[in-house]
Amino acid sequence: MDLGIAGRWALVCGASKGLGHGCAKALVAEGVNLLVNARGAAPLQQAATELRAAGARWASAAGQNEPKVVAVACDITTAEGRAAVWAAPGGPGTAFDIIVTNAGGPPTGNFRDFTSDDWQRAVNANMLTPIELIKAVVDGMAERGFGRILNITSSAVKAPIDILALSNGARSGLTGFVAGLARSGIAARGVTVNNLLPGKFDTDRLRATLEAAAQKTGTPLADVRNAQAAQVPARRFGTPDEFGALCAFVCSQQAGYLTGQNLLLDGGLYPGTF
Ligand code: NAD
Repeated sequence: MDLGIAGRWALVCGASKGLGHGCAKALVAEGVNLLVNARGAAPLQQAATELRAAGARWASAAGQNEPKVVAVACDITTAEGRAAVWAAPGGPGTAFDIIVTNAGGPPTGNFRDFTSDDWQRAVNANMLTPIELIKAVVDGMAERGFGRILNITSSAVKAPIDILALSNGARSGLTGFVAGLARSGIAARGVTVNNLLPGKFDTDRLRATLEAAAQKTGTPLADVRNAQAAQVPARRFGTPDEFGALCAFVCSQQAGYLTGQNLLLDGGLYPGTF
């Protein structure tokens, strides 16, 4: 299916690996121009090279020009980092058609041990940063009559995870904000806003969470991994490619009537009917 977004510009944050990388891969395979971001320059450049190759494959099959891939290594949770993204040579300024907000998740732990600074960092990374990114692009999207805003949040928004108190709290704030924004005047001007809620995906982030659980309980890592995969009705973890495929569809022309939703991808783990 042609998703009708070739030639659009997407900002994908946290795109050197994991779920952000899966989203960037799926979008460039539709001919979307990318500005990709992550903190580490070397892994980001390596990811950008792979993404350019994927874009070249799309261009050769479609008989079109190759999509552009601009890489900006910076911490997206800082004002300086976001300014570097908007000012990136070869990028579209703030005139993005698509943004995928994403950054590393907060640390695991017992909430009794978290300081006020820990909470400030979590709220900044997982609530305020997406809001700042949205603020910079949303009015331009509405003026041009097309926009797709996606936030990578977590299944913890629907079913809180005890060792992820920082995530449970901070992401719920973003979810409430998005619910209001999606239903404001922008919906009638072609701009949709949705959250993608990953369950258990096989990325470095999940591996770190499994290691924390193994250490906490003194259980071998392989046993923790197998036990957690066994809890998922699909009996496995998800892949970044599966995550990226849904991201690309939500960004498509066809998904113009889908807004204000929290889309859970968890292999059936969440036990509720709705
Ligand atoms: P990951 O660790 O595999 O990748 C994170 C990416 O974000 C990397 O490219 C990293 O360089 C980049 N990044 C981190 N902090 C950044 C910052 N401040 N500025 C710019 N880039 C930054 O993680 P992932 O599994 O892809 O997770 C992505 C998001 O989804 C996280 O917020 C995570 O908590 C959440 N999540 C993941 C899972 C899962 O199972 N993997 C489940 C629920 C929620």
